[in-house]
Amino acid sequence: MKEFDVIIVGAGPAGLRCAEVLTNSDPELKILLLERKQEVGPKVCAGGLTKKDLDLMEIPDTLFEHKVQRATIKSPIYTSVNEKEGLVVLYAINRKEFGQWQAGKLKNTGVELLTNAKVTAIDGNKVTVNLTEEYGYKYLVGADGVSSIVRRYLKLPVEKRLVTFQYTIPRSDDVRFEMYLNSKYFHSWYAWIFPHRNSLAVGCACDPEIMSPKKLKENFHKWLKENDLDITNAKYESFPISYDYRGYIFDNVFLTGEAAGLACGFTGEGIYQALVSGEEVAKTILDNGYVSQPMLKILKYNRIQHNLLKFLIKAGPLRNFIFNMIVLLLKNKGANSRISKGLS
Ligand SMILES: Cc1cc2nc3c(=O)[nH]c(=O)nc-3n(C[C@H](O)[C@H](O)[C@H](O)COP(=O)(O)OP(=O)(O)OC[C@H]3O[C@@H](n4cnc5c(N)ncnc54)[C@H](O)[C@@H]3O)c2cc1C
Repeated sequence: MKEFDVIIVGAGPAGLRCAEVLTNSDPELKILLLERKQEVGPKVCAGGLTKKDLDLMEIPDTLFEHKVQRATIKSPIYTSVNEKEGLVVLYAINRKEFGQWQAGKLKNTGVELLTNAKVTAIDGNKVTVNLTEEYGYKYLVGADGVSSIVRRYLKLPVEKRLVTFQYTIPRSDDVRFEMYLNSKYFHSWYAWIFPHRNSLAVGCACDPEIMSPKKLKENFHKWLKENDLDITNAKYESFPISYDYRGYIFDNVFLTGEAAGLACGFTGEGIYQALVSGEEVAKTILDNGYVSQPMLKILKYNRIQHNLLKFLIKAGPLRNFIFNMIVLLLKNKGANSRISKGLS
């Protein structure tokens, strides 16, 4: 059995970042990064990054399909258009290209990256890949997303998740970025339109405990029609998001990104949390006494958003009134910058 210092399960943003920070800090470490898919990168996602992600990593400009400067937020009654000269509100990336860029940084390092390598069992200090090969580890990192086998090994259930539906509509003439808050269709969540190089990502999310996926799908299609979004040649996908956080350090086993349930339950944002937790777990492995301030910050940010979500869920028939008030406030420049700061 081949032995490694660290085995990382999953080559999404969290796993790739964890491997990068580990190998850059200690090139002698033997690291195995296992990815079940044939290639690194592709993932159902709207591909939106914010300035926080850019502050964390130097992401080449060529990876941005769009730098969105105009954000439109709609409630049933009001529309707020936010645009500030020179201020980018959202950077649109293609997940395959982003993953390949992250993986490229691991070439000629102490990281052995295996694709088509699905972890099928974890037992004591070894993992089994594709039912046959066994690899030993000192540290194990679960970076394997929403249906994490590492999380299951730790016997941590996932009770809070979102269901999402998304169409990729081939269109190069339309570069709008819009968010729709409407309780009638999406309960306490929202629908989005994100621009990409030759397409629009149009999707919605909801917690299935609050609204059944069948109902959400029905509502989504009504809303698409109402907004003249033609899905004739569009690619349709559905994927869950986990926001059920229950810790990330478990002796010599760690959870990162969505395996740890670190996505935001309201916005569905999870790439930043994946990158930060990947980096912070690497630092914890390198120094057992390390106390991560960035993780505390993420947990605080998620708590604020989850409280907002709880408030919206409890608001019942007042929800659309609240959405209208939020969008009305966003129309005011002063309140807008305070709300944006609070949520960023
Ligand atoms: C429709 C939708 C839109 C979204 N839009 C945004 C957005 O605009 N901005 C944003 O920040 N976030 C967005 N998210 C959330 C974001 O995609 C995730 O939070 C983020 O990808 C989590 O990163 P991760 O590295 O933790 O997991 P993942 O990106 O899910 O990576 C996990 C990896 O582990 C691999 N894996 C799983 N099991 C195994 C196994 N047993 N063995 C080996 N490999 C395994 C998977 O193949 C995958 O490559 C969106 C999500 C959805 C569903």
